[in-house]
Amino acid sequence: TSFGFREVSEEQKGKLVGDVFHSVASKYDLMNDLMSLGLHRLWKDRLVSKLRPFPGMQHLDVAGGTGDVAFNVLEAINRVEQRSLEVLPRDADEEDETRVYVCDINPSMLEVGKQRAKKRGLEGLPSLRWVEGNAEQLEFKDESMDGYTIAFGIRNVTHIDKALKEAYRVLKKGGRFLCLELSHVSMPGFKQIYDLYSFAVIPAIGQYVAKDRESYQYLVESARKFPPQERFAAMIAEAGFQDVQYENLVGGVVAIHSAFKL
Ligand code: SAM
Repeated sequence: TSFGFREVSEEQKGKLVGDVFHSVASKYDLMNDLMSLGLHRLWKDRLVSKLRPFPGMQHLDVAGGTGDVAFNVLEAINRVEQRSLEVLPRDADEEDETRVYVCDINPSMLEVGKQRAKKRGLEGLPSLRWVEGNAEQLEFKDESMDGYTIAFGIRNVTHIDKALKEAYRVLKKGGRFLCLELSHVSMPGFKQIYDLYSFAVIPAIGQYVAKDRESYQYLVESARKFPPQERFAAMIAEAGFQDVQYENLVGGVVAIHSAFKL
C-alpha cells in the first residue's frame, strides 16, 4: 500500500536518489516551493543566520544542489563586508579570499545551480566554486573549512556516519557544522495532519507537477526513516563534534542541528 515502506537495498537507494534528482532538477524550485508552501526559503535563511558568515570565510555547502544556501551565504558575507568597509576601508586591489564551495554528487543539479548563479549576476565570481563530489568522501583538505552546511541532503546519503566524519575532518578547529533536514513531528493532532499531507499531498504534487509520483513517495519514506532529532544529535556527537544542539521549525517538520569542531 502507499502507506507501507518499501525495503530498498543500498545500491537501489543510490539509484533511486540519482533518478529523483535527474528527473526533477528542472522543476526543482517549483517543487520545493509547492511542497514546503514556500517555507524552505525561510528555513534556509535561518540556517545561514545561525552560521554567521564573515568575509574571508572558507565555507562548504554539501549536497548544495542548485545553490540556494551558497547564494544566501555569499549575500550574508556581502552585507557584513559592506558594514565593515564603512568603518575600515580596504585597499581596492586587496584580494577577496572568501570561498564558498557548492559540492553535489549530481552534475545536473550543479548545472541548474550555475544557470541560477548567472541569473543572479554571480557568474564567474571567484568566491563561488562548484564541485562535483560525494559527501561521504570529500575532496577537501583536513581542517580547511570554517563552515559546513548541508540542507535537505544528509537524508539521501547512504552512510550518514561517513558523511559526518568527513564534515568533521574538513572543518578547522572552531569550525561550525549546520544541518537542515526534514525531521519528526510529535505534537498530537499536528502529527496526523502532517502524515496526511506527506503521504497523500506530496506524492500527488509529484505526480501532477514533476510527473513522478514514485520519487516523491520515496522522499517521504526516506524522511520517515531518518533518525529523530535526539538520535541524529547523538550521531553528530559520535563523529567527534561538541556542543551539539538542534532547533525544531514548524513543530519538527524540519530541524536545524548545529555543532562545533573544538
Ligand atoms: N541543498 C539544496 C537545497 O536545499 O535546495 C539541495 C537539496 S536536494 C533535496 C538534495 C541534494 O543532495 C541533491 O542535489 C543530490 O544530488 C544531493 N546528494 C545526494 N546524495 C549525495 C551525496 N552522497 N553527496 C553529495 N550530494 C548528494
